[in-house]
Amino acid sequence: MPHARLSRTLLAGLIAAAAGSAFAADAKAPDVTRHQADIDKIVSEISPKRIEAYVRKLVSFGTRHTMSDTTSDTRGIGAARRWIKSELERCGAGTRMQVAFDSYMDQGGPRISRPTELVNVVATLPGVQAESKERMYVVSGHYDSRVTDVMNFTDDAPGANDDASGTAAVMEMACVMAKHNFDATLVFMAVAGEEQGLLGANHYASEAKKNGWNIAGMLDNDIIGSSHADDGRKDDTQVRLFAQGVPPAKEMSDAMRTLVSTGGENDTISRQLARHIKEQGERYVKGFKVNVIYRTDRYLRGGDHSPFLSNGYAAVRFTEPNENFDHQHQDLRTVNGKVYGDLPEFNDYNYIAKVAKVNAATLASLALAPAVPQKVGARTDKLENDTTLVWEPNKEPDLAGYRIVWRETTAPFWQGAKFVGNVTEASLKLSKDNYFFGVQAVDKDGNVSPATYPMPKR
Ligand SMILES: [Zn+2]
Repeated sequence: MPHARLSRTLLAGLIAAAAGSAFAADAKAPDVTRHQADIDKIVSEISPKRIEAYVRKLVSFGTRHTMSDTTSDTRGIGAARRWIKSELERCGAGTRMQVAFDSYMDQGGPRISRPTELVNVVATLPGVQAESKERMYVVSGHYDSRVTDVMNFTDDAPGANDDASGTAAVMEMACVMAKHNFDATLVFMAVAGEEQGLLGANHYASEAKKNGWNIAGMLDNDIIGSSHADDGRKDDTQVRLFAQGVPPAKEMSDAMRTLVSTGGENDTISRQLARHIKEQGERYVKGFKVNVIYRTDRYLRGGDHSPFLSNGYAAVRFTEPNENFDHQHQDLRTVNGKVYGDLPEFNDYNYIAKVAKVNAATLASLALAPAVPQKVGARTDKLENDTTLVWEPNKEPDLAGYRIVWRETTAPFWQGAKFVGNVTEASLKLSKDNYFFGVQAVDKDGNVSPATYPMPKR
C-alpha cells in the first residue's frame, strides 16, 4: 500500500517541522535508548534461586543482631559476616573484585549497651577507565537483624526481609557484575548496625566524606523481600524509590539556597539520580515500575541512605510497595493462629530478583556512562525568551557529547531531550522561565549520565 506509506512519511515530516528545531532529532547523536548488551546479560543472569539460597543461609545464623555472638561459626553476626565475605571472595575469584571488612569500635550509645565492633563487608570492583575509576557508586543492604526489643541480641531474629532481602540482592549483583568491566568503580556493601542507629552506614559515609571519596550515587536496598501486603494484596509489578528533595538542615547551604531560589527543589542530586534509576530500571526490566517517591523515607523509618545524604552524597532507598509490619522487627510467635516474625517463607524471591535487576541495570549504566557534567549554568545576564546553558568539559576519552533534557516546571520527569554535540555551550528556543533543564554527558556507545541542574550564571 504505497499510498499509506507515503502519507505516513509526510505526516512524520509535518510533525517534526511543526515541533520546531528544539525538538528535531540530531542524526549524529548516539542512541541513548538502545539496550547495552552487557547490561541485558547482567540482568538476565540475576537469579531468584541464588537470592533465596543467600536469604536462607543468612537466616540460618539464628540472629544477626549487631551485639550478638561473634565467636561461633554457626550462630550470630560474626559467623554471618564471615560467610558473606567468603561467599563474595568465592564468586569474585579470578575477577578484579576485592572483598574486605570495614570496621570500627563503637564505644556505646542509645542502642549499643557495651563497646561493640561494627563490621561492614565491602566488595569493590575497581573501574577500568583512568578518568573514571575514582568515581564510585555504592549499593547496600544491611545484614544485621532484630526482634521486637531492639536490645535483644540473643533470641532468633531471622530478618529474612529486613534485610536479608537487600543483602542477598547485593551479593547476587556483586557475583554477577564482578565478571564485567565498568569505567567507574562499584562498591557492593553488606552493612551492620542499621537497626542500632544506622551505625555501619554512618561509619562508611563519614569516612568517605573525610577522605574526599567521589561517591556519585548510593542505592540502599532495605525491605525489598515481599510482594504481599498485610491485607493480602499482592503487587509484584513495582518498587518504591525514596528520593530526598531539599535536606531538612537547620542551615541551608549557599548552593541549596540558589537551587531553591530558582524553583529547583525537585532537582537535587538525589532526585536526578532517582530519575535516572527510573529510566534505566524500566528500560531493562520490562513490565516493572520504579515508583519514585519524593520523600527521604517512610514515616517513622530511616535507612542507610540517610548518612550518605547528610554527608552530601546523592542517595536513594528501594523498598517493597506494601509492607507487612507483622513480619518486621517481631518476636517469633503465633497469636490466635497469626504468625509473627520476619521469616523466609514470607519473601517472594522472584520479586527480590526484579528489584536486584533494577539496581544492577542502573549501577551498570551509571558506571559505563561519563560523570555528570560539572559547573552547569544557565545564562541569566539579560532578559530573553530562550535558554543558553554552559558547562565545563568532561574528561572521559570516549565522550561523544552532551544532551540537554527539559520538562515543564510541574512535571516530575524529563519530557524532551536534544543532543547538542561535544560543545560546552548550547541554546534552545525554549524559555528558561517556563521549563526546568538538565545537562547530561553521553559516551560513544550511548551510555548517558544523570542530569545536572543549571545554576543561574551572570
Ligand atoms: Zn531494615
